[in-house]
Amino acid sequence: MGNRYDVIICGAGPAGATAGTVLARQGLSVALFDRARFPRKKLCGGLLTWKSVKLLEAVFGETPESMIRSGVINHVSEYYSIRTFEHGLASGRLPYPFHFTDRTRFDDMLLGHARATGAEVFEDEGVTACDPEKGSVTLASGRTVSARHVLGADGANSVVRSAFPRFDRDRFRRNMAPALEISLPPEDFPRPVDHPELIVGILDAGYGWVFPNRDRVILGICGLRRKKENFSELFRAYLTRLGVDMDLVPALHGHPLPYGNYLGAPFHQRALLAGDAGGYVEPLFGEGIFFALCTGLYAGEALAESQANRVDPGPRYARRLHRQIIPELKASDRLRWALFQGMRIAGPGSLSLFVNAGATRLAEMVHGIRSYAWLRRKEWDFL
Ligand SMILES: Cc1cc2nc3c(=O)[nH]c(=O)nc-3n(C[C@H](O)[C@H](O)[C@H](O)COP(=O)(O)OP(=O)(O)OC[C@H]3O[C@@H](n4cnc5c(N)ncnc54)[C@H](O)[C@@H]3O)c2cc1C
Repeated sequence: MGNRYDVIICGAGPAGATAGTVLARQGLSVALFDRARFPRKKLCGGLLTWKSVKLLEAVFGETPESMIRSGVINHVSEYYSIRTFEHGLASGRLPYPFHFTDRTRFDDMLLGHARATGAEVFEDEGVTACDPEKGSVTLASGRTVSARHVLGADGANSVVRSAFPRFDRDRFRRNMAPALEISLPPEDFPRPVDHPELIVGILDAGYGWVFPNRDRVILGICGLRRKKENFSELFRAYLTRLGVDMDLVPALHGHPLPYGNYLGAPFHQRALLAGDAGGYVEPLFGEGIFFALCTGLYAGEALAESQANRVDPGPRYARRLHRQIIPELKASDRLRWALFQGMRIAGPGSLSLFVNAGATRLAEMVHGIRSYAWLRRKEWDFL
């Protein structure tokens, strides 16, 4: 392991692997550290929207067909439904299908691309500290490695972010949603599942999901903790309401999901943040894969440009986020509060009215064909 790189990336999930691919492709020396050994598990529903599929094609040359062939995508659904336990609220056909991936394979595929383009990948190498001023990280083994820049792509509990002095830590914590998820063999779920179902009315600011996959059904809940709720109990009650035999339920696992705590200035001295580390998850439905890929791409391009032109990458990266990503997250955040507030005041029927008034346009918004801001056509700059 050399001791001086152009860029050190902490975390080899979608954000880190995308940045690593972009940087190595430009000829920069990149060290990608992950505390796990791949293929590794990641708790996730694996739902990919249109914009994720388009970005995967633009950056990695992976199409739905190539990913279906390699088993990375293992379910495609053209339908959706939204309901409470008692009533259906909205359902229908989508203008573009949702693709479902298995994150173990998906993340391994992305890391394979980073490696193939020349990024040096170090697995089982956790980062325990970051010094943004020096551009260095300390590894669990005690070694220190340095670079011109460090990218924190180390997920929701980012070690790199913890070295940032100036951001509202209380706001960040308040908007971190507990998310719990299990998967069951389809025969252990009481009915067949072939399209994604969202279940509302179980949390003040959150929802549950039942997602299909080729060889399993994925069941989860996430939401903001507003009244000291016990999420494990809530999740058990949710599974029972879904008719799951609790004797068949594996151990419960949870993972924090950034849910409205995206940072406006994700850089400090020589360090940048991408993906969950910067809170880049869509605050209504909790879509994070696309935002990890996209912020990884933008961070990678800003860092590559900074090496070529000796300019500061942080402000460039932030400007691009403010053009492309943050307006989407802000508008989705506003919509979330309007919808959850509407449901609290007028009941879940208000959501039904809202969705059914413009189902196709709303589906296009979720996919990223339209913007969360006023449903305008969205122009993604990576296409
Ligand atoms: C239950 C659940 C369901 C979800 N379902 C969906 C969904 O269906 N669709 C969707 O779009 N999004 C979903 N999300 C969100 C999505 O999983 C995340 O937004 C996405 O994984 C973020 O990618 P990332 O690369 O930023 O971080 P991660 O995927 O978390 O990757 C971070 C990487 O950093 C490594 N790491 C962490 N700490 C360190 C350290 N100290 N040193 C070195 N390495 C470290 C980890 O091992 C990991 O490999 C879900 C999230 C949860 C919790």
